[in-house]
Amino acid sequence: MENRKKVIRNGKVVFPDQILEISLLIADGKIAAILEKDAAWERDWEVIDASGKIVMPGMIDTHNHMSDPGPFRFREDWYHGSCSAASGGITTICDMPLPSEPATVNPDSLRLKKQTAEAQSVVDFALWGGLIPSSIPDMKKMHDLGCIGFKGFMCFATEDYPRISDGYLADGMREAASFQGLIALHAENAEAADLGCRHYSKMHCEDEARFDDARPWWTEYDAIQRSLLFAKMTGTRIEICHTTICQGMELLKDAKKKGISVYVETCPHYLIFDHDILRDKKSFAKCTPPFRSRDNVEKLWDYIKDGTVDVIGSDHGPFTDEEKLQQHDFWKEYCGFGCNDVVMAAMISEGVHKRGLSWTRLAELTSANAAKMLGLFPRKGNLMPGADADIIFIDPDMRWTYDGSKSFSKTKSVNGPYQGMELRGRVTDTFLRGEHIYGNGELLGKAGLGKYIKARG
Ligand SMILES: [Zn+2]
Repeated sequence: MENRKKVIRNGKVVFPDQILEISLLIADGKIAAILEKDAAWERDWEVIDASGKIVMPGMIDTHNHMSDPGPFRFREDWYHGSCSAASGGITTICDMPLPSEPATVNPDSLRLKKQTAEAQSVVDFALWGGLIPSSIPDMKKMHDLGCIGFKGFMCFATEDYPRISDGYLADGMREAASFQGLIALHAENAEAADLGCRHYSKMHCEDEARFDDARPWWTEYDAIQRSLLFAKMTGTRIEICHTTICQGMELLKDAKKKGISVYVETCPHYLIFDHDILRDKKSFAKCTPPFRSRDNVEKLWDYIKDGTVDVIGSDHGPFTDEEKLQQHDFWKEYCGFGCNDVVMAAMISEGVHKRGLSWTRLAELTSANAAKMLGLFPRKGNLMPGADADIIFIDPDMRWTYDGSKSFSKTKSVNGPYQGMELRGRVTDTFLRGEHIYGNGELLGKAGLGKYIKARG
């Protein structure tokens, strides 16, 4: 019964500045009203009991890499990747322009990705366009099709996805500024980072933890600094993706104070793991920018708490186990891993429980800020009347151990950094526009339920 109203009762509902014990009325996929805790309900309403649960807006994952469409669908496709997302409390996936083929760098490839995802995704999705030298003339058209922004790599990416060198970066920024678009950057100095890795490979260095020295903190710092200057001079809005270094956080905090329109993303793995994990998990935990020191990891939490960090992205981008070992040289293996089903739980366990992060700040980091940055607010990112009823229930004290073999993701690797991690707190239920798509460990949503969410739509 699609149109039946639903009422969520007895939960602790997270709003921007407070947690309230109220009831949420859902009608036609939207939050219809906020009701008193004990408000009477009508006989034909479906009553959903959230006793003992934290009720939050679904996560908007700002950073995701489905390899679909294209030849790399064996790594992750829209169906499996979105099921994995739903099980982890993500209700909107923001998908990066690569490594799908074609990469999302012009209107046709944007339409193709939209169609592919519409047919398969269990959760809603929004799309990043690509910022590569040849995509600049098409940026406005992609913007008009609702893409949320443009992702460029200041470091080397893949052969098919050229990095954005400084001249083109300035050009792309000017173009984005002309329509108030958003430029998202992977910020590492290309040549210094690349030559560092080659050097360690040539030395046959056997200490994987030194990946942090091969692409040292200052290569990231240099790129952040440069992008801030360029943003200031071109007047564009930028997002620094997956920021890993405290020195960079200081720069960003200062830039925000000075009025530069910069948003800051980091990923839960940079808040949890340090470079030593690479000795244990080898290339299965390899990602860029690299894991840093334990001291840096702990200090990053200060920037989570003080508001410097705006959004949390998973950077979900799985490879098969075979692919992760195919070069027989750690320094040359692929970077990235799957994790979208564990990022929310990881933030609860490591943030809320271990470091006193508030539920309201967590909701801001995982949902509201992303919606605002990407032009999806107020439809997404909050639980006020009129918003889409994208809701998750969290059992705040459930203890569990992450096991990749039980993931809904396609590769189900048991070698990733989160494997075997003991967590406290877990997403138990996920609702997409009022539909119960995940509950009791089971996937309830169907392929094709997810809709394309146009930015500024
Ligand atoms: Zn990424």
